[in-house]
Amino acid sequence: MGAINGWVAKQSTGKLQLFNYEPKSLGDEEVEIAVEYCGLCHSDVSIAHNNWGLTQYPVIPGHEAIGKVTAIGKNVLNVKVGDYAGVGWHVGSCMHCELCLEGNHNLCNDVRPTIIGNHGGFAEKIRTKWIWAIPVPKALDVSSAGPLLCAGATVFAPFENFGIKPTHHVGIVGIGGLGHLALQFANAWGCEVTAFSSTADKKDEAIGFGAHHVINSRSTDDILSMTNKLDFLLITVNNKLDWSAYVKTLKKNGKMAFVGLVLDPVETSVVDLVVGQKLIAGSANASPSATSRMLEFAARHKIAPLVEHFPMSKVNEAIDHLLSGKARYRVVLDADF
Ligand SMILES: [Zn+2]
Ligand SMILES: [Zn+2]
Repeated sequence: MGAINGWVAKQSTGKLQLFNYEPKSLGDEEVEIAVEYCGLCHSDVSIAHNNWGLTQYPVIPGHEAIGKVTAIGKNVLNVKVGDYAGVGWHVGSCMHCELCLEGNHNLCNDVRPTIIGNHGGFAEKIRTKWIWAIPVPKALDVSSAGPLLCAGATVFAPFENFGIKPTHHVGIVGIGGLGHLALQFANAWGCEVTAFSSTADKKDEAIGFGAHHVINSRSTDDILSMTNKLDFLLITVNNKLDWSAYVKTLKKNGKMAFVGLVLDPVETSVVDLVVGQKLIAGSANASPSATSRMLEFAARHKIAPLVEHFPMSKVNEAIDHLLSGKARYRVVLDADF
């Protein structure tokens, strides 16, 4: 089938380099996609730099890839050659464990992340097991839809998993790549929406994305002004905040879910949790079916990431831009091999 060009990390420091590898023959269950666009997610940088100690070098990052299907194995039925399909954080799972059989393939103990032990989407082509080749609805703009596959799926899944109702008041903490999509989903879900941001100049944009109220995420007084008002809080940041104050913003029976990988321990009053019967949880990406429902929901409600484009050949500049905190709100790389 010929070698595949991509941008590779060979070690934890330094820049991504142009690289090519010879793929194995396409498996019966596999789909090959010619990447046209691939979002740049913080996790790509974490893997390239081995921040989590999980990286297997060399690795081509990229796990928000969209393009046309160029080849399918003989057992593939969900997509055809020529269809647009996307690949997010996973490219495989065992398909026979209890979690896979329930449809929760993303929780499978043998789930295969796209960029750990596998090459991702900063490349001409990407391959995946068919179930993780997610068909892209025609109403979505493929040039900006890539970030829905990781960021979008990650913030959409909690609306289903935690039973969010249109009558709920939802708080979204952090208005970045994840949060700006979460605001759009929460508004389209029908909720009253409060954005928590540390960046004052994002206030008008947060309202544009669907927030009804905007609160300073780092001011304990401002957070406590929301005491006993929220049914659900979605935490999209990965830094430490005054979690005990956030717990107080929840109503009785309120829930708070982390999708950002906060590395510091979360300190809060157990008394507040017990007396208020409150829940603190984590939420891990989305199943293939939830990802499909998310794309359909986004197409129906015209939800789209706000993106900045870089040619894929400028991936290193794009990473610097992301790490500078200046990306508004998500970077997409346009394949230019
Ligand atoms: Zn990601
Ligand atoms: Zn499984």
